[in-house]
Amino acid sequence: MPNAVHAHFVPAARRLAIAIVLSMAAACSLRAQASPTDLEARLPSLSGLERARALAKLVDAHKIDQPEQALRYGAEALKLFKTYPDPAANVATLSELLWPHMTAGRYDSATFYADSARRFAQRAGDRAGEARAISNLGSLAQRVGDPNRAVESFTLALALQRGVGNERETANSLNNLGFVYSTDLADYPKSLSYHLEALAIRERTGDKSGVALSLNNIGIVYGRLREFDQALSYFNRALRLRREQGNKPRVASTLNNIGDVYFDKGDYPRALNYQRQALEIRAATTDKSATALSHRNIGMVYLAMHSLDEAHRELLEAMRLAAQAGDRGLGVQVRLALSQYDRAAGTPAAALASAREALAIADSMASRELVRQASAELALAQEAQGELVNALRSFKRSKLVSDSIFSAETARHIATLEQRFADERRLHEIDSLRRNQAELQLQASQRAFQRDAAAGLAILVAVVGFFLYQRRVEGARLAESLSVTDALTGLRNRRYVQQTIEMDIAASVRRCRAASVRGVAVDDADLIFLMLDIDHFKAVNDAHGHSVGDQLLVQIGTVLRTTCRDSDVVVRWGGEEFLIIARFTDRHQGVVTAERLRLAIERHTMILPDETAIRVTCSIGFAAFPLDPDRAEATGWEEMVAMADRAAYQAKRNGRNTWAGQEQGLGSGV
Ligand code: GH3
Ligand code: MG
Ligand code: MG
Repeated sequence: MPNAVHAHFVPAARRLAIAIVLSMAAACSLRAQASPTDLEARLPSLSGLERARALAKLVDAHKIDQPEQALRYGAEALKLFKTYPDPAANVATLSELLWPHMTAGRYDSATFYADSARRFAQRAGDRAGEARAISNLGSLAQRVGDPNRAVESFTLALALQRGVGNERETANSLNNLGFVYSTDLADYPKSLSYHLEALAIRERTGDKSGVALSLNNIGIVYGRLREFDQALSYFNRALRLRREQGNKPRVASTLNNIGDVYFDKGDYPRALNYQRQALEIRAATTDKSATALSHRNIGMVYLAMHSLDEAHRELLEAMRLAAQAGDRGLGVQVRLALSQYDRAAGTPAAALASAREALAIADSMASRELVRQASAELALAQEAQGELVNALRSFKRSKLVSDSIFSAETARHIATLEQRFADERRLHEIDSLRRNQAELQLQASQRAFQRDAAAGLAILVAVVGFFLYQRRVEGARLAESLSVTDALTGLRNRRYVQQTIEMDIAASVRRCRAASVRGVAVDDADLIFLMLDIDHFKAVNDAHGHSVGDQLLVQIGTVLRTTCRDSDVVVRWGGEEFLIIARFTDRHQGVVTAERLRLAIERHTMILPDETAIRVTCSIGFAAFPLDPDRAEATGWEEMVAMADRAAYQAKRNGRNTWAGQEQGLGSGV
């Protein structure tokens, strides 16, 4: 259960970590050629239009790291532009003044400046300036929790920028779109598509800070897909670039993201270390939202480590800062974390209050991702408070939203995209090889591409992993059609296995191959098929009637469901036989899983109205796919099921209430 909760929370943390980076990145394009320090040093000697333009550049340079200073520069620049007109620089200044106001939570002022910039640009026929103002309005919409309006603005800005032919700004808008889609709207194919296009442009134009941002944002998408190695590799590349560039807030964001991945991996000491490094940098900035996020992330790590007091302290600090920053999305995150804390602390009524508030805000923001998280947490809080009917309703809602996010179509779409990206990359690589002959400087980038090519297979495998992720993370889906669901127990049925197992088999084969290509051992490539048959079930029917037998089967279904991991597929194979497919695990887990299932059934007691207690046992057979990791494709899934079935029969012959595994020998019944 704790894992499920973390899975819901952490991507959201990432979402916010990047929100901050992105805000900054979206606005980086006017970066002055002369360094800000040079410009500042020259400022006293400048006057008139020259001074106004220098001030405009300084506004852009300092809008995030020294917002108050940027405001002063901006005010002076705007005054000077009245006497010494430069419409483009004037628009840019108005537009960029949104940032210092926005980071300080003064949204009305922020809107005022961006709107003025937009109108001014329209009057002056400055399409680029107009696009920029609209894009900034999009960032603002996202910040105040209106992702759909953000998409509208970014899309409009993108069209204008493409029309103007400004590649850098085009890449920024693509990036912004990719970001909203991966975070608020949780549409990963769209997100990847935008990020990949932005990355291609940034690589081509040699925009290093843009490349770092794209790498970082792609890392986020992979993190969402729970492809941790892939995510870390992108984050580390981004971190290297960002450290080279010396941009501390962005370094902090990537540190947050790396911390999140370690959190997801269950490596809490490392997670804490990275989150603390990020906080140290944040605390020196004025961005309250970003600092709040760091406190929240640290709180989450403490929660996972069961250090409740520390967790509470961090979360309260996060709440205080998020409220000051007026960041509603983050407010939802922190409330959900507090709800989790209250459940852990045994105060479910408080948990329920926080979760309800969080869901209400998430609903008003129309953020699918936040609604999904909030309804999942609300279900847990309601369950803790004993409101089971409400809990079920909330749980179903969360599942419905999940399903809409992770539809089968999403998986197909993302695979196509990845293919397209791989093709584009190859072309790109050939291109840079050519240029390399002419330019020595390009050698470095060529090496980078070669590395990427080497990682190509791994990337493909990772993205195909999305197929797996779909069910690995989401587990069983309530909203699936009845035809793949067993009507009595609500578990999956045979048809479900027939329809979906090939994808798991293919993924397992791919993982095995990728591992052997890289010459490494992996512990997440195997599928374990476990066939479970209830012992002497006929006797239950005979003694208590068929309907009691049915009820017992339902309860057994629940026991299996809760004993298995979310990523396992639990199937009512027929009658009193169940098939469990443990996915993306290690073959050595077969024994452990079988024993855990055996024990769970043995311990379960069904109490009849007359207080008669019924207990049953089961016999389990299992087999691990692939039989031979070097020839993974050699065996089909039907064979695996048949093998597990034979092993179950062996367990029956060995006296029941036990397990037998193909090659693993016999289990013990005690
Ligand atoms: P064992 O497996 O230990 O050899 O004994 P068993 O009594 O379980 O024998 P077997 O697996 O051969 O028979 C399964 C019995 O389970 C037959 C039937 O009475 C019962 N059964 C199968 N499906 C259902 C069902 O949907 N509802 C109920 N109530 N009983 C079922
Ligand atoms: Mg049977
Ligand atoms: Mg039986």
